[in-house]
Amino acid sequence: MTAPVPSARFLIVGPQGSGKGTQGVLVAEAFGVPQVATGDIFRENVKGGTELGKKVQAIIEAGDLVSDELTSELVRDRLEQPDAAGGFVLDGYPRNRGQVDDLDAFLASRGEALDAVIELSVPREESIARLRQRALDQGRTDDTEEVIANRLAIYERETAPILEVYRERGIVDEVDGVGTLEEVTERIFEALAARGLSVRHNGGNGAAA
Ligand code: ADP
Repeated sequence: MTAPVPSARFLIVGPQGSGKGTQGVLVAEAFGVPQVATGDIFRENVKGGTELGKKVQAIIEAGDLVSDELTSELVRDRLEQPDAAGGFVLDGYPRNRGQVDDLDAFLASRGEALDAVIELSVPREESIARLRQRALDQGRTDDTEEVIANRLAIYERETAPILEVYRERGIVDEVDGVGTLEEVTERIFEALAARGLSVRHNGGNGAAA
């Protein structure tokens, strides 16, 4: 008999400026799984001038959503890579109900499912303040006042409601995203540990120990 494969299939959800990108990387590293951030993948393609990049550039600069078809295909391709076999941390996908259905279908076809959804909550004023700061620090082209407002509106209208779907499945952990980076990371690990999802060390299976 082979040992059960430990799985760490996570989704991190939160408004723009909630810190989900930073926390997603830390969770992914701790569990030894890749972080898959659709926004990062799109931006790399824009930067590299690829076909995909050319298709999505104007959409991203307006803060609108890339089509579900294109985005879901991109994610499926990424999750089929061998490094994502034991798990992943999805950041920025799914972002609406159609993408939830696409992800469900993909995972179900592989006999998989999400293990936990981390909801990072941050008050609106706080996330806007952080985004303004990021605009100064990083100069992302979609961090102008107008585009930020559009992205937050889309988040509230299309993304926040997907949490209800996952809440019904009992897999959402709401984590307070206000605090130091370390405090927030600690809260996430505590929430996951409470589900029996412990950090793996050196490839060992912490969850079964
Ligand atoms: P943020 O969460 O701060 O808006 P991201 O880096 O997650 O930033 O996304 C940047 C942009 O990439 C989005 O505004 C959108 O245009 C595009 N994008 C990212 N993820 C998705 C997705 N799941 N579906 C559609 N478009 C997406």
